[in-house]
Amino acid sequence: MTTYRVNTQKLSDPICYNNLMTETKVRTRFAPSPTGALHAGTVRTALFAWLTARQAGGTFILRIEDTDQAREVDGAIENIVESLRYLGIDWQEGLEIGGDYGPYIQSQRLHIYKEWADKLANKGLAYPDPYTPEELESFRAQARNEKRPFLFRHHRPDNPPKWDGTKALRLKSNPREYSWHDEVMGDLSAGPDAVDDFIIMKADGFPTYNFCHIIDDYLMKITHVIRSQEFISSMPRFLNLYEALEIDAPVFATVPNVLGPDGNKKLSKRDGAKQIIEYKNEGYPPEALMNFLATLGWNDGTEQEIFSPKELIDKFDLKRVQRSGARFDERRLLWLSGAHIRNMEIDDLYNRVEEFWPESASEASDSYKKEVLILVKERLKFYAELPSLTKFFFEDLPVDDNLISEHKQLKKYSKEQLKTLLQVSRTALEKPKWEPQEIQDVLNELIETTGEKPVCLFGLIRIAISQNPSSPALNDTLALLGKDKSLRRIDEQLSEFA
Ligand code: GLU
Repeated sequence: MTTYRVNTQKLSDPICYNNLMTETKVRTRFAPSPTGALHAGTVRTALFAWLTARQAGGTFILRIEDTDQAREVDGAIENIVESLRYLGIDWQEGLEIGGDYGPYIQSQRLHIYKEWADKLANKGLAYPDPYTPEELESFRAQARNEKRPFLFRHHRPDNPPKWDGTKALRLKSNPREYSWHDEVMGDLSAGPDAVDDFIIMKADGFPTYNFCHIIDDYLMKITHVIRSQEFISSMPRFLNLYEALEIDAPVFATVPNVLGPDGNKKLSKRDGAKQIIEYKNEGYPPEALMNFLATLGWNDGTEQEIFSPKELIDKFDLKRVQRSGARFDERRLLWLSGAHIRNMEIDDLYNRVEEFWPESASEASDSYKKEVLILVKERLKFYAELPSLTKFFFEDLPVDDNLISEHKQLKKYSKEQLKTLLQVSRTALEKPKWEPQEIQDVLNELIETTGEKPVCLFGLIRIAISQNPSSPALNDTLALLGKDKSLRRIDEQLSEFA
């Protein structure tokens, strides 16, 4: 019997050794099928593979697996590229950039798969499938009636003809127990029923994923195959193929699913899972999304939650990826995103938000916009929030009565009371030199003289000057708006109470 070996090199070692004992750098890959836009779950797998390569000073490869052409979706490759670029997951080899082991698009490698398939067929380890779909279905129905699992190998033909490429080619499986190690899932094994004579080449000349990814990983010298959970049940078949092809298997790591917010099932579009590009369009800092995705089911063993990309590269460890699914919690993403924004230098943030200002900001000076940004930075969670948070700094907004009627405290006041309060405030605000500290002194005095709570009095002034229930610190906001504009807006609000 052929002995089968899984590479036992440790992930933490920057260098691994293949069977020839020659030094090989860590090489990981992301191998998406262009069947749709990239979402959080898939991109997290790519991120783990990228972090593994970057940490080891290795190579991350982008390969496109497009052998199931019926499922291909227009624009999917562009979406994959744009999503990865936005996140900063860069590849050193593969799509668009090439490399020593190309082409990196499977549909351009059909001749390679054909050669390897011929090798197996010539050795008697693969044979053309002699059955029609109807015949196959009748075998299946028979198995169902007899309440036993259907296995193709029970119908393996005795003397198959030579494969001429016009029929599907099936692997002649070796039904035995297969054991392997998975960096995340631990030591695993499966009995003979997990392997069968599966199709490796289809009648149309295209290989199946099960077959060609193994050839590609081998030829592209991939040292660590990091992929999602859906493939783990096929591992015995893959191991059977490594054995038949007489090639060493790489290190395997299975990344568990990302679960929906209820924690029960895989995250789906119905849970509001967005495309990665939507986060780009809404202005989430890419390092925040990367932080969020990396800590979906991974931590560094401390309480640390906020990681820069560099820290992730330094600290990531596949062995600390949890085996159970990780719950997708968009509120955590919002929190992380706000935290990354708060950590940014103002000039950096200013450059990043350029396209997100409200239209009315187009005439404003850079220095004014920067002042505005300094004030709202604390509260900004993603850049597309900028117009709603800052519009009033650039344009007069119509008085919105609902802001009072929906205000927890102010709705209890009569129009008369509100009018008096705002009038008193206006008079007091006419006095100070228009600087934040002076304005604050006046506001404090107003609290003393009126006996009102800050939440009510400041809430009222805030609504008058911003038509917004919340704004940055009131004194700073007033100072930046300027005295004339502030008083004019207070007058505007007062006329509503008349
Ligand atoms: N083409 C497969 C997919 O998109 C990749 C699986 C793998 O990483 O081996 O799911």
